[in-house]
Amino acid sequence: MKLLKTPIASKLPDLEPSIFDVMNRVAVETGALNLAQGFPDFGVDPELIRLHSQALSDGHNQYAPLAGIFSLREAIVEKTESLYGAAYNPESEVTITAGATQALFTAIAASIRPGDEVIIFKPAYDHYEPSVRAHGGVPVLLQLDGPEFHIDWVALDLALSERTKMVILNTPHNPTGTVLSEADMKKLERRLSGTNILVLSDEVYEHLVYDGHSHQSVARFPGLRERAFICASFGKTFHITGWKTGYCLAPEPLMREFRKIHEFAIFCVSHPAQRALKTYLEKPEHYLELGDFMQRKRDLFLQAVSGSRFEFTPAAGTYFQLLSYGNLSNAPDREFAETLAREHGLASIPISVFNLDRQDHRQLRFCFAKKDDTLKRAGEILNGI
Ligand code: PMP
Ligand code: GLN
Repeated sequence: MKLLKTPIASKLPDLEPSIFDVMNRVAVETGALNLAQGFPDFGVDPELIRLHSQALSDGHNQYAPLAGIFSLREAIVEKTESLYGAAYNPESEVTITAGATQALFTAIAASIRPGDEVIIFKPAYDHYEPSVRAHGGVPVLLQLDGPEFHIDWVALDLALSERTKMVILNTPHNPTGTVLSEADMKKLERRLSGTNILVLSDEVYEHLVYDGHSHQSVARFPGLRERAFICASFGKTFHITGWKTGYCLAPEPLMREFRKIHEFAIFCVSHPAQRALKTYLEKPEHYLELGDFMQRKRDLFLQAVSGSRFEFTPAAGTYFQLLSYGNLSNAPDREFAETLAREHGLASIPISVFNLDRQDHRQLRFCFAKKDDTLKRAGEILNGI
């Protein structure tokens, strides 16, 4: 084929292949047990499958409204109010999206202009930085501190300036499994008070919080909520990552701009999925029981690796557990993860790719949203190294 004389000048010239794709490919190629990408290997609640089939046979096969079906938006608003005490207007302050991914991207597209600075805490989920750069924004990267990944408040104070447009938060945190505390949120609230700085809050693991911690949604803090896009994922909450459904909550003036981009990015999201989710949300136990269910999986995994030479702090949230292998090897984490998959049959995610300057602390991330048997087999492999 004849090539154009002027190729596209890449908006993301330095983007490396997704680590999730890379490690998934290794897992498929080698037949390794896959604890790399974050998705469950167990089935979905048959009730949810039935509701989806029902929606198809009931004829909900044409476009949904731009913002999503109203009854699902109402259900989300009720859930948010009962859990976090925050009142959102279902008409104008919630939009159903194609997963949290599209919610995050749309919020960034609606807000960021060339030269705007965006604070991102590292290690960070790999979505944020490229999305900010694609819109001409300038990521300002701050490494989270120490083994517990605390926010360095002094570094944050130095980084905040007239040019700061947005701070991106993620709690519970992927990839570290840590959660922000109420005190953290209040500190941030105080710092942003009196500014026009926006908050983009990625809360896809809101229901995966353990050991008596509670999820500190931005929605609980009026001084944050007033400036925040909150992004959530049904994929993570109901074990349906392949449905790619989620939502965004934001005050009306922010949501107005969000919807202007949403309209042209996607217009609307799968209609039958929305019908099924609306009915499924009517029973709060469907999401309230998730924390206990996944904490049991975390404990099973930790029990299974307790005889190994890997070190860990139990994840306080998410379905990811970091394991440190510094006692076993000095190999860089990407190399160690490759060897673990190719020679020992267990796929994981190396953490350096998410860190500032690719700092390598010899840590791997393992997804424990897996069948008990998968977790026990993973433990046997790790114990044998
Ligand atoms: N944010 C974080 C922190 C995630 O781990 C994920 C999972 N892929 C997403 C956003 C995207 O969620 P979704 O699959 O709903 O697009
Ligand atoms: N959020 C999931 C993870 O962290 C999947 C990410 C992806 O495939 N982009 O593993």
